[in-house]
Amino acid sequence: MCGLFGIFGVKEAANYTYFGLYSLQHRGQESAGIAVYDGKKIREWKNLGLVSEVFNEEILKELPGEVAIGHVRYSTTGSSILQNAQPFCVNFAKKTIAIAHNGNLVNAYQIRCELEEDGHIFQTTMDSEVIVHLIAKNLKKGLVEAITEVMKRVRGAYSILLLYEDNLIAFRDPWGFRPLALGMLNGGYVIASETCAFDLIGAQYLRDVKPGEILIISKDGPKSYYPFKGKKTKFQRSYCIFEFIYFARPDSYIFSKNVYPIRKNLGKNLYKECPLEADFVMPFPDSGNYAAIGYSQASGLPLEFAMIRNHYVGRTFIQPSQKIRDISVKMKLNPVKEILRDKEVVIIDDSLVRGTTSKNRLKSIKEAGAKRIHFLLSCPPIKYPCFFGIDFPSSAELIAGRHSVEEIRKYLDIDTLYYLSIEGLLDAVGDLRDKVCLACFTGEYPVEVDFSFRKDIAEV
Ligand code: SF4
Repeated sequence: MCGLFGIFGVKEAANYTYFGLYSLQHRGQESAGIAVYDGKKIREWKNLGLVSEVFNEEILKELPGEVAIGHVRYSTTGSSILQNAQPFCVNFAKKTIAIAHNGNLVNAYQIRCELEEDGHIFQTTMDSEVIVHLIAKNLKKGLVEAITEVMKRVRGAYSILLLYEDNLIAFRDPWGFRPLALGMLNGGYVIASETCAFDLIGAQYLRDVKPGEILIISKDGPKSYYPFKGKKTKFQRSYCIFEFIYFARPDSYIFSKNVYPIRKNLGKNLYKECPLEADFVMPFPDSGNYAAIGYSQASGLPLEFAMIRNHYVGRTFIQPSQKIRDISVKMKLNPVKEILRDKEVVIIDDSLVRGTTSKNRLKSIKEAGAKRIHFLLSCPPIKYPCFFGIDFPSSAELIAGRHSVEEIRKYLDIDTLYYLSIEGLLDAVGDLRDKVCLACFTGEYPVEVDFSFRKDIAEV
């Protein structure tokens, strides 16, 4: 859960990166950072907080140059401390390399132990640092070869941007877990996790950085390398389907598809599988909005927004006591009593993780006077953790990991609970159906996972 933005050959690169990160803020709110090559050296600025809190005009003025990378972070591996903010810069052999990483490696701990035995000294608890050390170790063979060595060695999810002197480098794991798109701006190039970043700055979307591709953009133009092309490998395409369900912005293209219609298809398919009579359909905003539109259009039921979201709730430093815990629910979403009183409602949301937030929200809908509540989720039960960059808890904490649908319905104290089927989910993504990861629903991980890495590396 991170957002990447890179730019090459455009004046005021840091300013564009700032705007790019702004539109990727939904991918991570813990820290933000920009590294820029000023013609002689790499300068960087990063801090904990939102993009608007971390940067101001004065700071951006101190980041001159035409090549830059930026990162917004939501920590999955390594704790939320400034040391773990990215881009992460390392000096070696009188050179500096800056890295920005989206995804999680599943064998990082093992590689880290080996590198430490070889005398490598680590500065952070992030799995991303393993990649930099592997590049540094192999750089004497050449940049492409060094990155190829990394790709041969590490397993898991990585969409990566590197800034190395005046080169902007992007590479993506051969499974393709996390998105990465290439665009053009004023004769230069831009790369971003999602194309919504291109729209904001007026860049044109060209194509995705392909799974297994190394893309080096230098003053000689962009050049692509495919170290695994034509070789027999075990890699199977594993685009994270959760990007479509919840994570990516609906105006973005990811994996070459626009998110909006796919999210709407999820709602249409929910109606096909679970057609209900009710007074209206409503989303839990914003996560259920587009699937609710799909359900409403397929069913003919009116769409209401009977829960109002306060868009100005940021991070709160006051944890409400147990006694006033309802405040934290209502602070973000407040039900409209006038619309809900004595009504039978279909409520759509994207997913159920621990179940506690949904329980509180559903309780407030009941208290607002709803007569019957049908709660529909636009994805199957999440039963297994994700090791590829989405911060789901362990199976023991996932409500569907331990309980049947009927048990969950009783816990939520509602009339109907329905989860979209795997087939309904796959149908919604069309021709990507054979290329997606479903591991959090099925437990069938496309990459062998070293289960020790998460705990151990976070405690280093
Ligand atoms: S396990 Fe789930 S969340 Fe993780 S990459 Fe696969 S589909 Fe996405």
